Amino acid sequence: MRDVDLRHYWMPFTDNRRFKAQPRLVASAEGMYYTTVEGKKVLDGLATLWCVNAGHGRTPIVEAIRRQAGELDFASSFGLGHPLPFALAERIAALAPAGMGHVFFTNSGSEAIDTAMKMAVGYHRLRGEGTRTRFVGRERSYHGVNIGGTSLGGVSANRKAYSGILMPGIDHLRHTHDPQRRFVRGCAENGAQLADELEERIIPLHDASNIAAVVVDPVSASGGVLVPPKGYLARLREICSRHGILLVFDEVITGWGRLGAPFAAQHFGVVPDLITFAKGITSGAVPLGGVIVRNEIYDTFMGAQAAGMEFFHGYTYSGHPLACAAALAALDLYAEEKLFDIPLAAAFEDAVHALKGLPHVVDCRNLGFIGAVELAARPGAPGARAYEAFEKCWERGVFVRPIGDALAFCPPLIAEKKHLEELFGVTAEVLKSLS
Ligand code: PLP
Repeated sequence: MRDVDLRHYWMPFTDNRRFKAQPRLVASAEGMYYTTVEGKKVLDGLATLWCVNAGHGRTPIVEAIRRQAGELDFASSFGLGHPLPFALAERIAALAPAGMGHVFFTNSGSEAIDTAMKMAVGYHRLRGEGTRTRFVGRERSYHGVNIGGTSLGGVSANRKAYSGILMPGIDHLRHTHDPQRRFVRGCAENGAQLADELEERIIPLHDASNIAAVVVDPVSASGGVLVPPKGYLARLREICSRHGILLVFDEVITGWGRLGAPFAAQHFGVVPDLITFAKGITSGAVPLGGVIVRNEIYDTFMGAQAAGMEFFHGYTYSGHPLACAAALAALDLYAEEKLFDIPLAAAFEDAVHALKGLPHVVDCRNLGFIGAVELAARPGAPGARAYEAFEKCWERGVFVRPIGDALAFCPPLIAEKKHLEELFGVTAEVLKSLS
């Protein structure tokens, strides 16, 4: 590949100066591996950014995109239509929990979150509860980068520069991570009572009549892989239902098989009112996100007035033909290869926890095919040790993600035992080599 000038592209969520001094550029990808511009193979231990669930370059998805581009490159969904988003919405509704039969499309997870916020406020208003405009998020949760999602989110590094322009009217629940409880496999046994803060502190403070929705990511992946304790999400559901507050699950990462079911909602046996999704719906091949909506919410919008537009919201590319074609092909592939079953989940858990005892390791966490190892921070240099581990893993042909002082793992669902061995074998070697 010819040399590229790296100066002009302002890279997102990247230390641009460090990257441009020592770039990591991939030229192609197939299955579990990237090939760099230098021709080196690198194992994708993070499904790139928690999204390439079917692996890279899968022929049915690639062919579907190619075919669709030649047939109908674009038609908008503003008062016009084409069959694909209807077909895709039907497929998604069939995978969603019972009673969640309607789907609104966006291009990203961030847009899905802002869409869900507008839906929640709109729904209450149409039912004569227009005072319900407040939201409740959670510390260390990540809901994307638009103003709504940044405001709901609880990762302080993402919020601090924008404090003055974040939305008012948002409270945050405590995060679910207990630093005293380490090396827990899957969900901790106790801790459901963390959800009681909603009823004991936040609702009495504002009154339920002012609260539209509680928004949580079932597993806070980008927040460092924080797994909820058993019963926590069910407790949130009970409290929300008792007070007429909507519950939104942000399943941008936990959806599409990550936890061994189509959605975390099914894994945990808890049905929210809205589910936001993105990433794995197309296995990362084309941007696509959306919101899955409980029937009663959709029906409220449809029944509110005799005629006219029901929801003043949408994106130019909502339901883009290429994205829908990619998603339909990805869903076919997930079904054909039974990828949502993740038979290697137990092996993955063992591999994550086998890192216990290696230098600097202070915690290991996992659920489904998401895991993390937490390292002790270097005094005065938080994050430096995990970042160095990430760079060394890359040099040795494995891609993982540093989050603070944790290293996150989220392999494509097609990973075989040999891939897990490579991923965790290289990680272990690197941990041993760190100062
Ligand atoms: N919500 C969650 C839980 C996420 O993990 C992410 C991205 O990682 C988002 C929302 C934002 O999605 P996007 O980057 O597609 O806007």
